Amino acid sequence: MGIYVGYEGAKSCTGGPTSGAQALMSWFLGAYRAQGGYNLGIYNCAVIPGSNTTSLHGEGRATDLGVPVGAGWAQVLADKLINSSAELGVQCVIYNRRIWSGSYPNAGWRPYSGTHPHHDHLHVELSWNSARTLTAERVQQVLGGGGGGAPVPTPPAPGQRPTIRRGSTGPAVSEVQRILNAWYPSLPRLAVDGDFGPLTDARVRYMQGRAGLAVDGVVGPATWRRLLGG
Ligand SMILES: [Zn+2]
Repeated sequence: MGIYVGYEGAKSCTGGPTSGAQALMSWFLGAYRAQGGYNLGIYNCAVIPGSNTTSLHGEGRATDLGVPVGAGWAQVLADKLINSSAELGVQCVIYNRRIWSGSYPNAGWRPYSGTHPHHDHLHVELSWNSARTLTAERVQQVLGGGGGGAPVPTPPAPGQRPTIRRGSTGPAVSEVQRILNAWYPSLPRLAVDGDFGPLTDARVRYMQGRAGLAVDGVVGPATWRRLLGG
């Protein structure tokens, strides 16, 4: 148990979720899915409503842990995240109109005045060090298995996805379109139609360029791994 001190603000969109944020989400789903916990997203290159600042979702360091409105376990989890924030590298938690931040580490919960009340999710931010190094096993060590105690799910293996490119059709194409829409909400929405046309091709190349992958429009193992957060 320990309170994290400090706050690293977001600078610019990075192109995908961090491994630490993926690990926290993975642990959360394993522990709380049976009680209604769900994934509301990690990476999102968007500005904070009402400001011109990129949110930490743009650096893939923030997770939105979806919870049923009014769930008692969600408040318990929010308190645990703060009480173990030093061990976890958690620098900010927003839940149910209240915020705790490592900028005011010992102030406890303070009123949150942002436009979204955060009654249906815990917004949890990681320090850069934690975003790079946190594992689901480490979260399990610090917080235990939560109420559900289910095993931490392993992310889907990219190798099980077909290699797709312009002209491909089917559910794997729809999956890529859905992921790219979630990653780049400020760009025109791709139709999730399972048809890999020129717009999807351009968006895949855009993602590959930002992610430092070969820019070829082909969604093979390396691009899948990145899209699925592995
Ligand atoms: Zn959030």
